Amino acid sequence: MSVFEHSEYDGHEHVAFCQDKATGLKAIIAVHNSNLGNALGGCRMWPYGSDEEALRDVLRLSKGMTYKAAMAGLKQGGGKAVIIGDPRTEKTVEKMLAMGKFIDSLSGQYISAEDSGLTVDDLKMMGKKTEYVSGIQAKYHINSEPADGNPAPSTAYGVFVGLKTSVKHAMNSELKGVKVAIQGLGHVGIRLAKHLHKEGAQLYVTDIHPENIEKAVSEFAATAVKPEDIYDLDVDVFAPCAMGAILDAENIFKLKAKVIAGAANNQLAKEEFGQLLVGKGILYAPDYVINAGGIIDIYHQSISSSDQALINHINKIGDTLLEIYQRAQTQGIATNIVANQIAEERFS
Ligand code: NAD
Repeated sequence: MSVFEHSEYDGHEHVAFCQDKATGLKAIIAVHNSNLGNALGGCRMWPYGSDEEALRDVLRLSKGMTYKAAMAGLKQGGGKAVIIGDPRTEKTVEKMLAMGKFIDSLSGQYISAEDSGLTVDDLKMMGKKTEYVSGIQAKYHINSEPADGNPAPSTAYGVFVGLKTSVKHAMNSELKGVKVAIQGLGHVGIRLAKHLHKEGAQLYVTDIHPENIEKAVSEFAATAVKPEDIYDLDVDVFAPCAMGAILDAENIFKLKAKVIAGAANNQLAKEEFGQLLVGKGILYAPDYVINAGGIIDIYHQSISSSDQALINHINKIGDTLLEIYQRAQTQGIATNIVANQIAEERFS
């Protein structure tokens, strides 16, 4: 396997292959770009089928973090770590401690947060061996909700701010009476539903777990929809808050919404589908811009700032989206491409 020639390598500054024989830990830490500051990004544990699969994932994810941090106005670079293994059966305290040591060996070049397969407790375990972990302290209150280090309340608030800005831009409307379809009512989606309900939006919701739907129906007067019907609704906004790659040609063809604004990562099945959305007159809020509330929260935890400083920073997601929309309009190109351009200008 060639690393420097890898199709996802993209000039990564540092890629560390970490093995601890005693605990069986195998991990890769990738630092994509540190022009704006030390790299911040989550550590994921996943049962990768091969080392190549793990390498591809970490390189792709750490590059994504460079773009996300730049667009969130953070003085941070992009990085990510992956631990190879099944988090349900192969995770041990000893492996977490060993991972903490490896992170520490990079002397702060990479600061780790939580990602799929790991919990705040796992991160705290790593934190026994390194100071370079963030997202483990209950510090912030987003709209009176305490965050326990979990960034979801901040992510949901950021998506709400971005959705509101996008509706204003595309429809010249406030949220009262605006119809929003939410796909996925997990940590982020259910909180987004709460914000939107408070502002008078009319909600249509789906999830694969009925209990999540019941909560939104009873607490936020939402209308329940089957998962397969969510793309066909006659709504103003589609808010994907479940999985990635849902914006494929088939689903884009079905959508009637004027705005797409949601938390899910990697929403576009292919980058060029951004242009399909332009063709259909749908305003797309680039995913890594609108869902940056979580990384902004983690950054603020690392600098120990105040609730208000965090909220002020998350509110800027709206301004960043407007900058993207204006440039996209002037240049006649898709918003996802403009977001990439602006990010590259900021971190290059
Ligand atoms: P989550 O796992 O808590 O929630 C996802 C929800 O989607 C679950 O309730 C799940 O049942 C539902 N779901 C899965 N498949 C579905 C389907 N086919 N149709 C309808 N619903 C389905 O995750 P989360 O933390 O709420 O994150 C949501 C998305 O936002 C993910 O893509 C995540 O990567 C992204 N994101 C999350 C954060 C964060 O702070 N949690 C930050 C940035 C991006």
